[in-house]
Amino acid sequence: MSSQENCEILLPIPTLQPLDNDAAAISDDFQRYLTYHLGRFKGCTPAYIYQALSHTVRDRLMPHWQSTWLNHLQPQKRRAYYLSLEFLIGRALGNNLLNLAIENPTQEALKRFSADLEQVEEREPDAGLGNGGLGRLAACFMDSCATLALPVIGYGIRYEYGMFRQRIENDEQVEEPDHWLREGNPWEIERAEYHQRIQFGGYSEFYKDAHGEERVRWVGTQDVLAIPFDVPIAGYKNNTVNTLRLWKASATDEFNLQEFNQGSYTEAVQAKNEAEHISMVLYPNDSSENGKELRLRQQYFLASASLKDAIRLWKKGGGGDFKTFAADNVFQMNDTHPTIAVAELMRLLIDEYHLNWDEAWNITTQCMAYTNHTLLPEALERWPVYLFRRLLPRLLDIIYEINARFLRLVSRRWPGDTDRLRRMSIIEEGPVQQVRMAWLAIVGSFSINGVAALHSQLLVDGLFHDFYELWPHKFNNKTNGVTPRRWVAFANPALTQLVSSKIGDSWIANLQELEKLVPYATKKHTAFHKAWREVKHANKQRLATLVKQDCNVDFNPDSLFDIQVKRIHEYKRQLLNILHVIHLYIRLKNGKTDNWVNRCVLIGGKAAPGYVMAKRIIKLINRVADIVNNDEEIGERLKVAFIPNYRVSSMEIIAPAADLSEQISTAGKEASGTGNMKFMMNGALTIGTYDGANIEIMDAVGAENFFLFGLKADEVQALRHDYRPWDIAAQDADLKAVLDLIRSGHFNDCAPGEFEPILNSVLSANDPWMTLADFRSYVDAQDKVATAWQDQEHWTRMSILNTAHSGFFSTDRTMLEYNRDIWKLKAGAEI
Ligand SMILES: *Cc1c(COP(=O)(O)O)cnc(C)c1O
Repeated sequence: MSSQENCEILLPIPTLQPLDNDAAAISDDFQRYLTYHLGRFKGCTPAYIYQALSHTVRDRLMPHWQSTWLNHLQPQKRRAYYLSLEFLIGRALGNNLLNLAIENPTQEALKRFSADLEQVEEREPDAGLGNGGLGRLAACFMDSCATLALPVIGYGIRYEYGMFRQRIENDEQVEEPDHWLREGNPWEIERAEYHQRIQFGGYSEFYKDAHGEERVRWVGTQDVLAIPFDVPIAGYKNNTVNTLRLWKASATDEFNLQEFNQGSYTEAVQAKNEAEHISMVLYPNDSSENGKELRLRQQYFLASASLKDAIRLWKKGGGGDFKTFAADNVFQMNDTHPTIAVAELMRLLIDEYHLNWDEAWNITTQCMAYTNHTLLPEALERWPVYLFRRLLPRLLDIIYEINARFLRLVSRRWPGDTDRLRRMSIIEEGPVQQVRMAWLAIVGSFSINGVAALHSQLLVDGLFHDFYELWPHKFNNKTNGVTPRRWVAFANPALTQLVSSKIGDSWIANLQELEKLVPYATKKHTAFHKAWREVKHANKQRLATLVKQDCNVDFNPDSLFDIQVKRIHEYKRQLLNILHVIHLYIRLKNGKTDNWVNRCVLIGGKAAPGYVMAKRIIKLINRVADIVNNDEEIGERLKVAFIPNYRVSSMEIIAPAADLSEQISTAGKEASGTGNMKFMMNGALTIGTYDGANIEIMDAVGAENFFLFGLKADEVQALRHDYRPWDIAAQDADLKAVLDLIRSGHFNDCAPGEFEPILNSVLSANDPWMTLADFRSYVDAQDKVATAWQDQEHWTRMSILNTAHSGFFSTDRTMLEYNRDIWKLKAGAEI
């Protein structure tokens, strides 16, 4: 049933016309879906309202989806493909209503059925097909590419189970499977006719073709089908709908048939199960690899299916001579996860399309581009050679050949430098030989970028230095961003309205226009300042309701909302935050309330299920919250909550409500951060280290509107050789009191010594995160926060300036830079 073989007659489909968007038309369509499509005859549950409304809205995307798709398929239309194992999309309904500009008539239409739009939106499960920043970045990129009408197609995996749901039970994280597709997904279209066959196992066979040419084919394989599901990505009010194509794994028919013929019915069904395992679950590790075979299968499955599909589309659009392939196509690889694509494209060009090595290598290295997301050694992907040999033998042949040719190049450039050869080899020698995926990506790509200025600099100074010396022109920076549609216009409608009342609403698609708010930051605009504070207060009330509901903690919206939400990781230093909270608690218990401001500290984030220390940190946070919140002496002066199941839809409530954004990673460790940008756009002030995009945020808003603290990246490096955390603790009475209180068992839960591993880690001379080194400067910066908060006029001014100067951090800017420097696509209808 391959699409190429099957000669079904294509029936012509007419050009769709845009549908009416008034409340009456929406209401009619909604009612028709509820009855004729979903078969609800009398009453119905809210789940069906959500389904019917989503179909009604999806219909309104269709005409634009059709025209955009046909436009993208034009001959010689250059396209970019964004390859990512993760797309952390979140909910679609509200965002699509916003981008189609049909929120008001939809609200009105629903009223006729006594339904409330906000409640209907709440029914939608998050599409949690990602871990954190990297996956969310991919989703923001898709939004911006559609808004800029760039011909970009996203390729990912349609995981049956997305990011796990996190519950807190007895102060500890408990993971539950996220079966997000259970009630169906109205935002996807299955296109089984465009399936691809993906090979695993088997061996390479050499043969002579009809013209006597030596060729290789990959035979004896166990195949899996990749079925595409398309998700529409609407641009903002621009009649453009791009495509995110997600692959689902499915068993091949003949695989089953063979087994059936041998009478092994159950084995056949099991084989089907194994094939379908590939797209069953997202690996929940953020910033660390775990080397599981299934994960390598996922990576190859995505890379192979996407490349074959891209070639198919290119041929369909008139492509045929591979000489123009690199001019027509570019692939952006989101981290090393999909970089087996380098070897797979070589295989396809050589084995299937019979190009010679040099032709294939020229094409590959002209259309592959790689984005690095981390310097953490534990995140650098390496695969054992034996695993490759078993799973992807033909790919291993090709990687060896790429490496042999590459090492010849290196030794010509640096004769006799064997140490360099060893360092730069794609194959790492050792007890177990490993394939270094980042090296494969660099060797195979024409562009390699980091995700913030500091990170890109550290890459070429350190990790990638050898490659930088060889190919300086390949390296560049593309500072991350976030989409202002989801993160401001949708998440913070009150702020959006207030801003637009002063500067119009074109800033939503051109975020630099927020600069026009600068004059309103001066204190003479008292009415605007008051309105600004009222918006924030209402957003804080909304968050307080959520915190009450999910944590049973009372947050008073008049207090300072001090928030850190992100994956739980030692480098992000949630520990430093909680040490400060304990310090505040001790101050209150000792009556040291000078310069006090009432604070609500909110922390949230998921820990990788196998990351023991991260889970212990979650427990400490919850234990501290328990003690602090239930102490009557403390009362409203300090509240602490851990919000469970942090995800995109909770960030939509959290970011608009923050006064203070905690971005406190060890300098040099956070590649960029994007949570920091969402908070800034929504008028939060940042307390942060000189790390990742924090640096660019501070440059944009001015140091006087930012609470900087801590060692810089080079200072962290310099201190490593002589780090003595116990001396720091001995010399700082406040820090000593905090550590002593933890050690005393004050926060323990009937388990003696349960937080000892935490104390040991921060007191170790080898603590890579150097938490204690930054304690004093963090506490001092927090004291400056308190001082600033006392002057509400001053705080409001700083808040407005943060929003006003956040324009640079729109992914629209990021995408224009990718396009200018890497992709070179023409926007819209241009060819
Ligand atoms: C933005 C976002 C992130 C990334 O946050 P960082 O603070 O940059 O680590 C992670 N998860 C979710 C749900 C997000 O929305």
